Amino acid sequence: MFWRRGGTRVVGGGGPAGTVQAEPAPALALDGVSRAYRGGVTALDAVSLRVPAGRMVAVLGRSGSGKSTLLQCAAGLDRPTAGTVRIGGTSLTGLGEAALTRLRRDRVGFVFQSLNLVPSLSVLENAALPLLLAGGPGRTRRPAGTQQEEAGRARAALDAVGLADRADDRPDLLSGGQQQRVAVARALVTDPDVVFADEPTGALDPVTAAEVLALLRRAADAGRTVLMVTHDPVAAAWADEAVFLHGGCLAARMGTPDAGEVRRLLHELGRR
Ligand code: ADP
Ligand code: MG
Repeated sequence: MFWRRGGTRVVGGGGPAGTVQAEPAPALALDGVSRAYRGGVTALDAVSLRVPAGRMVAVLGRSGSGKSTLLQCAAGLDRPTAGTVRIGGTSLTGLGEAALTRLRRDRVGFVFQSLNLVPSLSVLENAALPLLLAGGPGRTRRPAGTQQEEAGRARAALDAVGLADRADDRPDLLSGGQQQRVAVARALVTDPDVVFADEPTGALDPVTAAEVLALLRRAADAGRTVLMVTHDPVAAAWADEAVFLHGGCLAARMGTPDAGEVRRLLHELGRR
């Protein structure tokens, strides 16, 4: 079948059983993760996926195939009904809400399709938001200088996305692409191990989308793990690997994805 070319394989049709490979501990590991909803919908069906540090993985599939559910479960925003998720070796399964919140805050960054910046805060304050939340209720008791340090980190994050000069503006003065770059700065400001992005370029034109994708690519090249949901084969081509969901199952994986190959495989899955 055509999708076996170029390093793509249909899951379950892989190499010899029992092959033992020495692999570094994955930054993100899903083992048999399922998510069933009341009423019988199985949004995710026994998905296993390991992503080492420094890799960017694109998650593709038709609408309703379980992409967002996969991302939410992997990020600890939703709890699987079966299976385990590990981030940097920590299993999310046994964590209570407080520990899960801490792990999300300290080790995970998020970028969503909708530009969920806070309109009443400046660009700098938006970028700093995860640091402010990290302070929690004890924030007022933190040492003097913390606020300055947080502002410094937020400035550095804005600088990294090329928006240091817009720090004092309100988000609505920025273009859609610039706003999404602020969202990327905000996702990276805590120096997370894993960045989760759900359709981060879904609302952007191709040129602006490429700018945002380049930032996520750079984050991966700097050693972070990036898991990005997208429906766009061109966006997927920025990733090291593309994985394809179909009916909640991991249907195929493609190394060094090429936009044309991704498009063909999506079309093929759509006919199943
Ligand atoms: P995608 O992001 O690929 O479009 P989703 O992960 O959002 O898909 O949804 C996968 C499936 O799970 C769909 O059939 C959807 O209708 C269903 N689903 C998602 N969220 C819920 C929910 N809260 N309750 C019931 N069904 C849901
Ligand atoms: Mg979705």
